[in-house]
Amino acid sequence: MNNDLMEKLVSLCKRRGLIFQSSEIYGGLNSCWDYGPLGIELKNAIRNYWWREMTQLHPEIVGIDASILMHSRVWEASGHIEGFTDPMVDCRKCKRRFREDDLPEEDRIQHKCPECGGDLTETRQFNLMFRTNMGPVEDSASEVYLRPETAQGIYVNYLTVMNASRLKPPFGIAQTGKAFRNEITPGNFIFRTREFEQMEMQYFVHPDEAEKWFDFWLDNRVDFYEKLGVKPEKLRTYQHLEDKLAHYAKRAVDIEYQFPWGWAELEGVHNRTDYDLRRHQEYSGRDLTYFDESTRQRYLPYIVETSAGLNRSMLVALLDGYAEEEIKGEKRVVLKLSPHIAPMQVGIFPLVKKGGLPEIARDIEVQLRPYYRVFYDEKGAIGRRYRRQDEVGTPFCITVDFQTKEDETVTLRERDTLEQERYKIPELQEVLWEKVNVE
Ligand code: ATP
Repeated sequence: MNNDLMEKLVSLCKRRGLIFQSSEIYGGLNSCWDYGPLGIELKNAIRNYWWREMTQLHPEIVGIDASILMHSRVWEASGHIEGFTDPMVDCRKCKRRFREDDLPEEDRIQHKCPECGGDLTETRQFNLMFRTNMGPVEDSASEVYLRPETAQGIYVNYLTVMNASRLKPPFGIAQTGKAFRNEITPGNFIFRTREFEQMEMQYFVHPDEAEKWFDFWLDNRVDFYEKLGVKPEKLRTYQHLEDKLAHYAKRAVDIEYQFPWGWAELEGVHNRTDYDLRRHQEYSGRDLTYFDESTRQRYLPYIVETSAGLNRSMLVALLDGYAEEEIKGEKRVVLKLSPHIAPMQVGIFPLVKKGGLPEIARDIEVQLRPYYRVFYDEKGAIGRRYRRQDEVGTPFCITVDFQTKEDETVTLRERDTLEQERYKIPELQEVLWEKVNVE
């Protein structure tokens, strides 16, 4: 399996229009991917589910949508201009470029290219931020950065949001949106790209309570992936050693998934202390403290950050769901996605394209469309139609047959068990509601 599995998945995603190379007619743009009709449904469903779990279900968490371009001082204060770098080396012989900390230990010590054995250049620190100019003049005063993380948009707005929403610590601000990093070695499909989407929730707490909330959110975030349908044995947490922590973090735990190439980060949970607010206070000259009326205490809240990648979550859902099975001697490819995130949730088919069956099926489609992501198909043999839906993860298929005309029942086929049960048409909406939605 494994790298093989990635290849199969990439090819399935292209064939069925989930995810494909950006600008393909021009030869493609390295590490940039476009999400097609089914891909965007899956992406939206995961994002919406995250939003529900991280804001809608918590009265003390609110959302924002901050601008991608921010004042350059933000990135000075955050430490990104100085420190958001990766160590880069080039091979003098084959000209390949590497992240030094990605090299196998032996090559790193000997300073040798892992591909051709050639000499490597001295290590240079490469800043991962994309820089551009705002307005018509290209000078240093007009320089701005594409944000490398969504978090800073939350920090600089925290007082405005807290006051406008009449909140006080502990409370959270959530945001999803694009982030950009000029990664030295992007790759593994949508795992590491230069443009990606983050889903972040920053929780503002009294400094004495940071550890307690850290544990709470870490558990909560692991549960999230299980509820997303990810196999629990493929998830683990990894706590960073104290001497390897990022400059802003007091404690950092990665939620990792066992990808085909090994365990790798899916989400980071960090205790960022008051580092960010303190720095923004210093650089902006604004008082960013919170005054607690009940204790008469003034303090800078600590921040517990949960920082997830939408594209990585999507890759995990796809990899984890991908299966090849043999059914009665025939091979089928199936994506076992949770019904609540499946790009299409219900397939609706007339058994044949005559005898009034398409009309009944269209009627059912009209009834269900407002509530579910529905796909209608009347072309080809029914077995092939089922398999086309299996391949893109559609959990339920409804088939209208000749018995429907007699007793108003249809079959409901389940993707995973292949069981087919008959239901009355008016029951469908409720039966599906139970099956599709999470608690
Ligand atoms: P890595 O060690 O993989 O580079 P990181 O520790 O730099 O990740 P964070 O800064 O903690 O990542 O970002 C939070 C989340 O954003 C990551 O867990 C990941 O899901 C997502 N993410 C970060 N960089 C990328 C990228 N280049 N492409 C896709 N997703 C990313």
